[in-house]
Amino acid sequence: MQLIYVCRHCNMYLGRIDRDQADPSRLGLDTLTAEEQADIISYNLNEDVAYVRTICNYCQEAIESHPELALLHNPLQ
Ligand SMILES: [Zn+2]
Repeated sequence: MQLIYVCRHCNMYLGRIDRDQADPSRLGLDTLTAEEQADIISYNLNEDVAYVRTICNYCQEAIESHPELALLHNPLQ
């Protein structure tokens, strides 16, 4: 299975990694609770991939300088 990283805010493709060859602790996923993992990871078993919703550098900087923008991008929260 491959992990595909995309930005949760702008959907920018950030890269992919082969989960079978990756060290889970390096991915930073083993520190998440099951609930958090369910929130950021969506599996597509047909394609044998998992989409990991993270944040790109651009959105990270934007949110750090304008925290109120994060609310606009997450209307459900
Ligand atoms: Zn982004």
